[in-house]
Amino acid sequence: MSTAIVVGAGIGGVTAAVALQRCGWQVTVLERAPELGEVGAGISVWPSAVAVLEELGVKGVEKASVQSKPAGMRRPDGRWVVSAAELGVELPVMIHRAQLHDLITAEFGPAVTVRTGYEVRTVTQDADGVTVNGELHADLVVAADGIRSVVRGALYPQYKGPRYSGFSAYRGIADVELDDGGGETWGRGQLFGFARLIDGRYYWYGTANQPADAASEPTVFKSWHDPIPRLIAGSEKVLQNDIYDLTLPLVPFVQGRIVLLGDAAHAMTPNLGRGACSAIEDAGALARHLQASELSQALTAYDAERRPATTKLVKRSRGLGRLAQVENPVVCGLRDGLFALGGKVMALRARK
Ligand SMILES: Cc1cc2nc3c(=O)[nH]c(=O)nc-3n(C[C@H](O)[C@H](O)[C@H](O)COP(=O)(O)OP(=O)(O)OC[C@H]3O[C@@H](n4cnc5c(N)ncnc54)[C@H](O)[C@@H]3O)c2cc1C
Repeated sequence: MSTAIVVGAGIGGVTAAVALQRCGWQVTVLERAPELGEVGAGISVWPSAVAVLEELGVKGVEKASVQSKPAGMRRPDGRWVVSAAELGVELPVMIHRAQLHDLITAEFGPAVTVRTGYEVRTVTQDADGVTVNGELHADLVVAADGIRSVVRGALYPQYKGPRYSGFSAYRGIADVELDDGGGETWGRGQLFGFARLIDGRYYWYGTANQPADAASEPTVFKSWHDPIPRLIAGSEKVLQNDIYDLTLPLVPFVQGRIVLLGDAAHAMTPNLGRGACSAIEDAGALARHLQASELSQALTAYDAERRPATTKLVKRSRGLGRLAQVENPVVCGLRDGLFALGGKVMALRARK
């Protein structure tokens, strides 16, 4: 039986393990954290990623989004710029990260072994296989070890890697009753978004321009439209993360028998809400190619499919992030005007 080591048990790593298991591989997942899990925040899962999860047999994410009220883009005083209900656009499933992680790991069968508290430091390979930390051997290593990937660093020591976006993000989960479909509110250099999770709670996030490593609080949003202050007040805990993406061009996702997947390959800013979705899609593509061809051809095909697709997303996400974080009031006015106009055009098209 073919063997694989997956480095990292984030959403990318655990989805890759399920995908490899479905291809008949024996999989060992190595995770440096003492236990499996995900941070306390929500995540958007777009239809293309939901389709991959369904294909892999992961149940529970296909539940339709509970979006029934207008959602879209507002100004800090609450005036709508554009409403998604008008546009008829498809919305993602919103789910708690821990719930998504649990639904994926629930599919682990006897072919998947998980070792937590195991940190990968070295990876070497020859024509026959890959060796991790000089002691574990496999036919394939899938590096899903996140934006600061040790494996990517070993393969491409010259690559610059993470790039600070200039803004930090706050996230929380609020257990509140709301009569609001959510969406995003764009201000001057700040953005706030919220959505109802499939478990009924609300996930919210906010961003602020600031230097890297500066601790701060989401105080500015306390004067923004209802229900934003209530969401913040209703959250037990607020997470803060500086936002980084990976330097372009991205490095090749495959070198010999080692594959990069998820943020290790293509970390992007969260503006499109597609980073984890892309990791899930990577896992689906890897399984599809492994089922269709022998190893080396499959890995070449994986890189050829996923690197261009995710490069586009890294660029689009970065561009959207820059637009959302603009501080100049004239540019913000123009930006909002253009979005409103674009919304009207899309609504007209949707009606036709
Ligand atoms: C504020 C914010 C909001 C976001 N919102 C969304 C969203 O709504 N939708 C979406 O699709 N994406 C979103 N993303 C992006 C998404 O979080 C990431 O793309 C996704 O979590 C990446 O998953 P991953 O498994 O590739 O990496 P990670 O989640 O970083 O997992 C890597 C794992 O590897 C482990 N590890 C690292 N190094 C080692 C080592 N040497 N040895 C062993 N284990 C190791 C780590 O402990 C970790 O468990 C958001 C990101 C941020 C910051």
